[in-house]
Amino acid sequence: MPITADITAWQDLAACRGVDHRIFYPDRGERADDAKQFCRRCPVMAQCRAHGLQKETYGVWGGLTEKERDEVRNKLRKNGKADASTG
Ligand code: SF4
Repeated sequence: MPITADITAWQDLAACRGVDHRIFYPDRGERADDAKQFCRRCPVMAQCRAHGLQKETYGVWGGLTEKERDEVRNKLRKNGKADASTG
């Protein structure tokens, strides 16, 4: 998980805490399975996913890759939801 300047309390509970964050930034065309394994058992996946949808462009957040977050955002926009984090 990419830790940025706005570290929040939920990140203290992250399953990926202390893990080499490079697995959350797979190269283009590379699978994100290793990162997603952490996300599936993470107690703060919902918070992380909402954060990722609102603020993050790169990396895996809440079990979603960059492309998957774009797809969610696009679906929400089509459905007329202004806040992509509520999906
Ligand atoms: S959902 Fe995934 S990226 Fe987010 S904090 Fe948990 S393990 Fe890390």
